[in-house]
Amino acid sequence: MITIQGKGVSAGVGIGPLYFYQRAQATLPRYTVEDTDAEWHRFKGAQTGAIEQLGELAEKARAEAGDDAALLFETHQMMAEDLDYEEAIEQRITEQKMNAEAAIADTADQFAAMFEAMEDTYMQARAADVRDVSRRLLDILSGTVAGGIASDVPVVLAADDLAPSETIQMDKTKILGFITAGGSGSSHTAILARTLGIPAIVGVGAALKADYAGREVIVDGSTGNIVIDPDDMTRDRLMKKREEALRLQRLLETLKGQPNITKDGKTVRVYCNIASPEDVHAVQVNDGGGIGLFRSEFLYLNCDDFPGEDQQFEAYKQVLADMEDKEVIIRTLDIGADKKIGYFGLPQEENPALGMRALRICLTRPEIFRTQLRALYRASALGKLGIMFPMVTSVWEVREAKRICEEVRRELKAEGVPYSEDVKLGIMIETPAAVMVSDRLAKEVDFFSVGTNDLTQYTLACDRQNNDLGRFYDPHHPAVVRMLKLVADNAHKNGIWVGICGELAADLTMTETFLAIGIDELSVSPRAVLPLRNAVRMTDTRETSPRILAALADEYPAH
Ligand code: PEP
Ligand code: MG
Repeated sequence: MITIQGKGVSAGVGIGPLYFYQRAQATLPRYTVEDTDAEWHRFKGAQTGAIEQLGELAEKARAEAGDDAALLFETHQMMAEDLDYEEAIEQRITEQKMNAEAAIADTADQFAAMFEAMEDTYMQARAADVRDVSRRLLDILSGTVAGGIASDVPVVLAADDLAPSETIQMDKTKILGFITAGGSGSSHTAILARTLGIPAIVGVGAALKADYAGREVIVDGSTGNIVIDPDDMTRDRLMKKREEALRLQRLLETLKGQPNITKDGKTVRVYCNIASPEDVHAVQVNDGGGIGLFRSEFLYLNCDDFPGEDQQFEAYKQVLADMEDKEVIIRTLDIGADKKIGYFGLPQEENPALGMRALRICLTRPEIFRTQLRALYRASALGKLGIMFPMVTSVWEVREAKRICEEVRRELKAEGVPYSEDVKLGIMIETPAAVMVSDRLAKEVDFFSVGTNDLTQYTLACDRQNNDLGRFYDPHHPAVVRMLKLVADNAHKNGIWVGICGELAADLTMTETFLAIGIDELSVSPRAVLPLRNAVRMTDTRETSPRILAALADEYPAH
């Protein structure tokens, strides 16, 4: 039995075989071939495999979502066997003696450029299809598995680190737990694990060795403990712990349908954070009161090219329709920092967390912003939508964003496209600058939502991605808590509501504090809803608030 200690970032006990994530090859092999016949056959084999895969995907899509959903895969199937495309590859292999991978990649570039140069927007969009089909062929040739998991049985997944774009694309039904060598508790991969309720442990460093692959492993996401080849006693102990957690969960289930009300009658809205329309199911199961943060950038991370207006509209529409008349707050894209996407073509930055990200991208490249806003406003006709802008530092940014929203609304009106006149506009408070001008910002918007993950990072000058910084990254720091109070006071003075959507919102040691400073909404991962409801219902603010407010004013425990 081998024991390894990491940092638990998503609670729960997972048990299964250990599996190392297979990352797609970063570099394309490029070499001259002697036997061009054999190389051509390599290509033909990959082509047959791709056509088979696409046929299966089309059938699955048809069964789950109808003919329209199947069409995309059928189009890709046709493209994979398109004669012009095939001939261009053949010519590169037989005449230029290129290896199949290089021939496919160059042909993909050639065809994509040709499509992009066309006038017709439908034909322009085919560029993404040819790239997608070509990537599938390359993956087959390199043995890379879509989603990075080539296992028929569910596994505990290990990796050096996982980018948010990798995590979102995985088949989650195959994952019993995550272990990463790097990573931190407030990284987006940890946040996704919590949303999905999958136990996760980060920061195990070099202790996890490749030769443990395939062996039985138990991860305990609450303690950060990993056991490889557990003995019977350890297995029994951890299985009991799992059952105990399930028993507690069943007890919490009795709170479904109950209000989030304190013993003395104060209420707080408990909403959920999601990253994709599929997460809405977990919101419903856990009785979330609404969606306080839909991280819309995950739609972009899940694509090989900019998702178009219609594609985004469908995703937002689905979330609003599934949530019926409940409030849904969708954050405009927060790309940049750890969430990088190749097709955005952003330059390398020395300090990406301080660089071109989120609203800064939207205001610099308004065409990207407009597409998203058009999709959002179109979807607003179907539910109760709020739009929220991330990474705000100044009043002028908010005014400019609002001006673009106004232009989009006018455009839709002129086109006769329906949208709601009652879309609420809010901002995330996640920079110290936004906190310090929150009195002015409150006059511009309908609500605030505090992003404590970034607010802690920027206030304490402490990288949220860096696990080594450990206790220095402290969202409980009085600087952060006092900021929350200042923001709440400024919001209320100006008649708007204030929520928290950072990970701190689910921290039950902070619930009394949030109630004391008058936070109106807490947005947490779906599984945190019922524990939070329980904590709210156990609180009597007549007892807790005076003490907390006094401590905040002058005698907060020394740090
Ligand atoms: C935050 O910063 O607290 C937040 C909710 O946004 P994200 O974690 O996506 O940066
Ligand atoms: Mg943030």
